[in-house]
Amino acid sequence: MSYAQEIYQHVVEKNAHEPEFCQAVKEVLDSIEPAIAVHEQDYRNVALLERMVEPERSVTFRVPWLDDNGVVRVNRGYRIQFNSAIGPYKGGLRFHPSVNQSILKFLGFEQTFKNSLTGLPIGGGKGGSDFDPKGKSDGEVMHFCQSFMTELYKYIGADRDVPAGDIGVGGREIGYLFGQYKRLTGVYEGVLTGKGLTFGGSLGRTQATGYGLIYMLEEMMRHHNQALQGKQAIVSGSGNVAIYAVEKAQAKGMKVVAMSDSNGYVYDPAGIKLDIVKEIKEVRRGRIREYAEIVDSAQYVEGSSIWKLPCEIALPCATQNELTLADMQALHDNGCRVVAEGANMPTTREATDYALEKGMIFMPGKAANAGGVATSALEMTQNSMRLSWTFDEVDQRLQRIMIDIYQKTADAANRYGCPHNYVLGANIAGFEKVAEAMVAQGVC
Ligand code: NDP
Repeated sequence: MSYAQEIYQHVVEKNAHEPEFCQAVKEVLDSIEPAIAVHEQDYRNVALLERMVEPERSVTFRVPWLDDNGVVRVNRGYRIQFNSAIGPYKGGLRFHPSVNQSILKFLGFEQTFKNSLTGLPIGGGKGGSDFDPKGKSDGEVMHFCQSFMTELYKYIGADRDVPAGDIGVGGREIGYLFGQYKRLTGVYEGVLTGKGLTFGGSLGRTQATGYGLIYMLEEMMRHHNQALQGKQAIVSGSGNVAIYAVEKAQAKGMKVVAMSDSNGYVYDPAGIKLDIVKEIKEVRRGRIREYAEIVDSAQYVEGSSIWKLPCEIALPCATQNELTLADMQALHDNGCRVVAEGANMPTTREATDYALEKGMIFMPGKAANAGGVATSALEMTQNSMRLSWTFDEVDQRLQRIMIDIYQKTADAANRYGCPHNYVLGANIAGFEKVAEAMVAQGVC
């Protein structure tokens, strides 16, 4: 049995009740096997993989808060500080009822390699709570965020751990969390990213993950001698990543015909009108079905899979495991040949394997959605320099970073004799830098 397989067995035995975490570890270990083989004995001597699959620290805490009726509610909070080999922990906070230790460990593990790929000095972490901001008043969200930070502040700091947003955590939540951190510590520092523009936020951070996804897509297609202009696409989700992916895709001449939320999808053959989606989702915090009530050319479908619709490019931008084997087969049968992941691990392992077998162009989230965290790192840089770059400066840096990530991913895939296997390329390129730093720093 190879070293990677041994470690996977060990992870499954120790974390049998954490399926998402085991899934993420398997995907990474399977694809980095050729890179491990080159240094196997050196890595074994320092128990490199054993250490890499174990978070440096996991904190779980109680989050009591008062709702608008004066009733005390209790949620569970988490912060997983996965790996600080190449920089302070960095990764989002997710507020969603599905949040548990398995999901956050998978996200923190993935984040370590993604952050490495950006070329910036940031380690991997993730956190959140099973709190659901949906349907809560602003006051309730504020009370929750204040209580959450009252415990979390003990473990974070600008040079220690810098959380950001993720599902259910946007500008509003980051503002409340930042205010409470400042109040508890008396320190004004860049401890969170995704902040408002009046208190240390970076221009371009809101757009970064979605725009970065399209910059990556464009670069990847260029290497396959294809252009984005005129391509028909489907984008799942209608949150931060999805909205700005659609905005940049449309600016590049693509036609996006469907978007979704967790209840269903809208199909608009005339092309999605993004100003209407933004009004529904960003202003009113409404449901995607309202789009079809406003736009005559659109129809709303409850519950069914968005991936049954015909398209040339699929961009899953909602959540983990949202694109199954049956979905990938339907996409392929309907002529889709390109998938780039805006969300984290949205494609199941079977679906990814099928896409690669069929020669579809497939870019994993670790590389394709790294623009968000890269721009968060640019926000950290601006905060520590105490200055603000213009939107264009940030956007240009983002474009360069995405092109560089493509190059590293493609180079690693080529070096190991699997050109165009971007899953293997992204995992190996992300792994190599973390491994080198961990070996150099000794057993810690
Ligand atoms: P948001 O909370 O802004 O949006 C999530 C969207 O996905 C919502 O429209 C939500 O619908 C929808 N959704 C959730 N579950 C499902 C489902 N089962 N089927 C269809 N739609 C669903 O989150 P983000 O846009 O920030 O994050 C989306 C993904 O991108 C996540 O995987 C996240 O980890 C990843 N990501 C985000 C980054 C960022 O900068 N924000 C950076 C890198 C990765 P509803 O409103 O009904 O819940």
